Amino acid sequence: MEFDLIARHFTRAAPGAVLGVGDDCALLAPTPGMQLAVSTDMLLEGRHFSPQDGPAGIGHKSLAVNLSDLAAMGATPRWATLAIALPEENDAWLTAFARGFFRMADLHGVELVGGDTTRGALTISITVMGEVPPGQALRRDGAQPGDDVWVSGVIGSAALALAYRQGRLFMEQIDAAKVLPALYLPTPRVALGIALRGIATSAIDISDGLLGDLGHILDRSRTGTNPLGARLEFAALPTLPVAQTYLHEAVARDCILAGGDDYELCFTAPADRRDAVEAAAESAGVAVTRIGHITAEPGLTVVDADGRALSIERTGYDHFAP
Ligand code: ADP
Ligand code: MG
Repeated sequence: MEFDLIARHFTRAAPGAVLGVGDDCALLAPTPGMQLAVSTDMLLEGRHFSPQDGPAGIGHKSLAVNLSDLAAMGATPRWATLAIALPEENDAWLTAFARGFFRMADLHGVELVGGDTTRGALTISITVMGEVPPGQALRRDGAQPGDDVWVSGVIGSAALALAYRQGRLFMEQIDAAKVLPALYLPTPRVALGIALRGIATSAIDISDGLLGDLGHILDRSRTGTNPLGARLEFAALPTLPVAQTYLHEAVARDCILAGGDDYELCFTAPADRRDAVEAAAESAGVAVTRIGHITAEPGLTVVDADGRALSIERTGYDHFAP
């Protein structure tokens, strides 16, 4: 049964692997001289997705969030493995899940080379592998005082959609429809990450919230024993136009600053590389926005249009918060 299911849904040609699905291990031959970037993300029903997202959406999102980690390292995606626990064998569900998964995989040239399939509460764990030239990975620990802070795309949309869906923020239906795709169908910024090799000094993908994720860069990019700081301008943060309509609500402002699930890149680059950053973004077909700069003094400050510091209640999503 299990083998039949694997053969029907998850066995596809993997010309970029020496050996793909079907043996005890996959055999992979990384491009000589390249480093492998490896990352695993686990998604649980009820926590990272809900049944109403639909199987194709779940297939898309579970691979997209993994590819986002490769994007944040500047790695070129190559292979993935998929461990999946299912409460029951459901052919229609698996067919749609595989459609969403392989569509995302094909967009980014990722080959599924193995995995595990078992019965249990719906859980999806994916490991992605990508390649990056030695010394060129975009790490969290390279930010320097004076660097610009940038973000790709728009932020807060996924968190606004979640707040709407959970009844924490009232939105007109026509407005909600504009933010919901960010939650269901995130776009990993793979081409941008690759284009930023040799330009960005640090990068992270925004999965748990802008302030929290930028905080990881500040924490890892220490000068001596002190973490770095950053000063951001709230008015500079790129959002969908529809988000502006709701910014008088504290919960909407919180979605922009601390909402998760955007999967945009937050990165730093020297101020004299602004043209190079813009050219990289252009080549990747993604908008980027400068939102502030890195400071030698620790602490994250967000200022309003008058230069007054906003009070910040929360920086991001904490999986172990009570
Ligand atoms: P083993 O018992 O040797 O671990 P399995 O029976 O779990 O092997 O899996 C058989 C083959 O199918 C292996 O090559 C494994 O990598 C692959 N496989 C199992 N589940 C999946 C899945 N969900 N997606 C892709 N490949 C899978
Ligand atoms: Mg196994």
